[in-house]
Amino acid sequence: MENIVRKQRDFFNSNQTKSISYRKAQLQKLLTLLKQNEKAMIDAIALDFQKSEFDLFSTELGLVYSDIKVALKKVKKWSKHKRVRTNMINMPGKSYIIPEPLGVSLVIGAWNYPFQLSFAPVVAAMAAGNTVVLKPSELPINTSHVMAKIVNENFDPNYFVVVEGGVEETTSLLNQQFDKIFFTGSVPVGKIVYAAAAKNLTPVTLELGGKSPAFVTENCNLKVTAKRLVWGKFINAGQTCIAPDYLYLHHSIKDELLELMRQELERANYSFENSNYVQIVNHRNMDRLLPLIDENKLFYGGGFDRETRFIEPTILTNISWDDKIMEYEIFGPILPVLTYSNLNDAIAEIKRRPKPLACYVFTKDKKQKQEILSEISFGGGAVNDTIMHVSNDNMPFGGVGNSGMSSYHGKFGFDAFTHYKSIFEKPFFGEPSLKYSPYTQTKLRWIKRIMG
Ligand code: NAD
Repeated sequence: MENIVRKQRDFFNSNQTKSISYRKAQLQKLLTLLKQNEKAMIDAIALDFQKSEFDLFSTELGLVYSDIKVALKKVKKWSKHKRVRTNMINMPGKSYIIPEPLGVSLVIGAWNYPFQLSFAPVVAAMAAGNTVVLKPSELPINTSHVMAKIVNENFDPNYFVVVEGGVEETTSLLNQQFDKIFFTGSVPVGKIVYAAAAKNLTPVTLELGGKSPAFVTENCNLKVTAKRLVWGKFINAGQTCIAPDYLYLHHSIKDELLELMRQELERANYSFENSNYVQIVNHRNMDRLLPLIDENKLFYGGGFDRETRFIEPTILTNISWDDKIMEYEIFGPILPVLTYSNLNDAIAEIKRRPKPLACYVFTKDKKQKQEILSEISFGGGAVNDTIMHVSNDNMPFGGVGNSGMSSYHGKFGFDAFTHYKSIFEKPFFGEPSLKYSPYTQTKLRWIKRIMG
C-alpha cells in the first residue's frame, strides 16, 4: 500500500494530471472501457446478487456514463481560474481563485450499487485532476474482480488503481497518507475512516446511511403515492441508502394507502422467480434482517428463502418507536409503518433522532410540505417521489450530521476533490503609506473611515 501511494504521489507531483487534456483523455478512456465491458459487468452482478441488466443500467452504469459525459463537457470550465471583485482596500490589484486538485485520493465503495458507488466518485476525482486508489466493497466479489480487471489491465497504476480486499486491506490503506478520502458505507465504518483521516488532517467525504422517513399526509394522490413508495422501497430489495426506511402516515389514510400498496406489489410481481427481484447480498445480512420480521405485525409478505437469499417485499403495521426495527437502518425489503395524528408531534419525533440521509413527503398541502422541509434536517429528498433526487447532478448529493458530510455529483463532485486557492495579485505601483508604520492619528482616522 505504501508503495502504491508513494508512486501515485510522485506521479501527481509530475503535474501530468493537472492538464485538462490528460483528464479528458482518462475520462474518455474510462467511458470506453466501461462500455466495452458491459457484458462482464452484467454477468458479475447477476452472480453476486441477481441484479438485472435493467437495474444495472438504470441505477448504476447509466448514471456513471452521464457523470463522465458531463465531466468531459464541463471540466475545462470548472477548472478555469475565476476572477472575483477586489475590495477597495486592495486597490489597485486583482483577485482570482485557482481550482487545484487535492492530490492522491482514496475512494472506498459500498456494495449495494457497487459500480456506481465506486466509479462516480472516481469520475469526480479524475475530473478534478487527482490520482485515485479505488477500494471497492469486497462483498459482491465478482463485481469487485471485474472492476479490478477493467482498471488494472488498462490504467497506469500510478494514476488509477483498484485495490481489492476487506477490512484488513482497507485498514492498511487508511494508514497511508492521502490528500482526500471519499468513503461510502455505514455510519460505524464512517467513524473509523474519519478517525484515520484525522491523523493526517486529510479531508473526507462521508456518504453514510440512516433511517429515512417517508411522510404521507391526509391530502394527496394515494394511488400514485403507493406506486412511488413501492418502487423506492423495494428496488434493489430495499438495499438502497436513500430508500424510504419507514412510512410515517397520517392515520386517516393508512388503510387505503396500504391496500393500494398491496395491489401495486402484486402488479410489480417481485417474486423470487422473477429475475427483476434482487437477492440479499449475503447470509450475514439475511440473518440480520429476518429477526426484524415480526409475524404479529405482518401486513404483507414475510416469506423468505434462506438458501437463495430472498426476502419477499414485506410491510409491517402497528409499529411504534420502541420496536426493534426502528433502532437501526433496515437496508432490506422490510417496510415498517408508523402513523401520526399531529404532524408537529411526528416532526418532533424525527428531530430527536440522528439526521436522516433522505426524507420524502407526499402531500398536496403546501403548508405541511413546508413544515417538513424546513424543520427536519436531512441530506436531500423529494416531494411526491422517492429516490429520484439522486439522479439530478445539478444538485449536491450527500448527508448531514450522522448521515454524512460533504457531497458530490456533477460540479459538486469536482468541488469535493478540489482545493480553491485564493490569489490576490498586486502591481508594483500604487503603494499607499497608510498600512505601514509609523501609525499616526491621521492614518487611524483614515483606516476607520475605510474599514469601519
Ligand atoms: P460498510 O461500512 O460495511 O462497508 C463500506 C466499505 O468499508 C467497504 O469497502 C468495506 O470493505 C469497508 N470496511 C468495512 N468494515 C471496515 C473496517 N472495520 N475498517 C475499514 N474499512 C471497512 O457498508 P456497506 O455494508 O458496504 O454499505 C451499507 C451502508 O452504506 C448502509 O448504511 C448504507 O446506507 C450506506 N450507503 C450510503 C450511500 C450514500 O451514498 N450515502 C450509498 C450506499 C450505501
